Amino acid sequence: MEQPFIATPKRTKEILNKYHFTFKKSLGQNFLVDVNILENIIHHAGIDKTSSVIEIGPGIGALTEQLLRHAKHVVAFEVDQRLLPVLGDTLSPYDNLTLIHEDILKADVGRIIHDVFGDQEQVDIVANLPYYITTPILMKLLQEKLPIRSLTIMIQKEVAKRMAAEPNSKSYGSLSIAVQYYTEASVVMNVPKTVFMPQPNVDSGVLHLKVREKPPVDVHDETLFFELIRASFGERRKTLLNNLSRHYKDVYTKEEMTAKLQAIDIDPRRRGESLSMEEFAQLANMFAAE
Ligand code: SAM
Repeated sequence: MEQPFIATPKRTKEILNKYHFTFKKSLGQNFLVDVNILENIIHHAGIDKTSSVIEIGPGIGALTEQLLRHAKHVVAFEVDQRLLPVLGDTLSPYDNLTLIHEDILKADVGRIIHDVFGDQEQVDIVANLPYYITTPILMKLLQEKLPIRSLTIMIQKEVAKRMAAEPNSKSYGSLSIAVQYYTEASVVMNVPKTVFMPQPNVDSGVLHLKVREKPPVDVHDETLFFELIRASFGERRKTLLNNLSRHYKDVYTKEEMTAKLQAIDIDPRRRGESLSMEEFAQLANMFAAE
């Protein structure tokens, strides 16, 4: 008789009991127990039988199972050794999985993509991420300039909002620009706590990121660009002039900083949250030219 899907409360409980599995909060283990949510995530990710997929943190295989049904091949990275025999059991009906026991933050993802998928493939990332390391995982995958076409990730709702935020909104900050420099970002689903086992303390959201072919602005020195953005948001209630003069106090006087901002028509009294990515790029390029 065919087994019901893993992502149901009943089957999940059975699997957990069979393996005497206890959740590790420190690894962000909140498993999904709702197939409809998973179908929806896969739909937003645009996965079909031609898709090469990477999943981070398969857990007991709830999302992995649905990905395996819809995609061509799935590579899943799981750090928790205890889950390997569980996954070997729950996903045994599928032959299109490569399971890798590794910490995603330490893994050579580029080499693995090359070894499993070859040189021609564009990969889609789909994951219910461990929330304690959402940002480091995402920045690693984006900055390493891997052949990734899109990322569709379940994360903390507030973080999803910040990553997709536009200028002049409460959620807009250096994280919004860091993510949108590499991708077109949109929040595609809000997800209630009730579809997880155990339930997390925070609400969740699904963020869809379409990787850009090239950044939307021309930046001469990326390190300086991101440093300047972080400095501009240093203290949100302070003006751009105050935040920047404080950060660059050993390099420029307040008067010099005022003149710099005015030279590219940026009012020094504005706040960082009102500047677009283009304006930050202009500012950084002026600093880089000196
Ligand atoms: N995908 C499953 C689901 O949706 O039910 C589980 C998602 S759970 C939120 C996060 C998973 O990531 C856990 O299985 C956890 O062990 C794994 N994990 C945590 N840190 C990791 C890391 N650094 N590298 C790889 N996997 C990790």
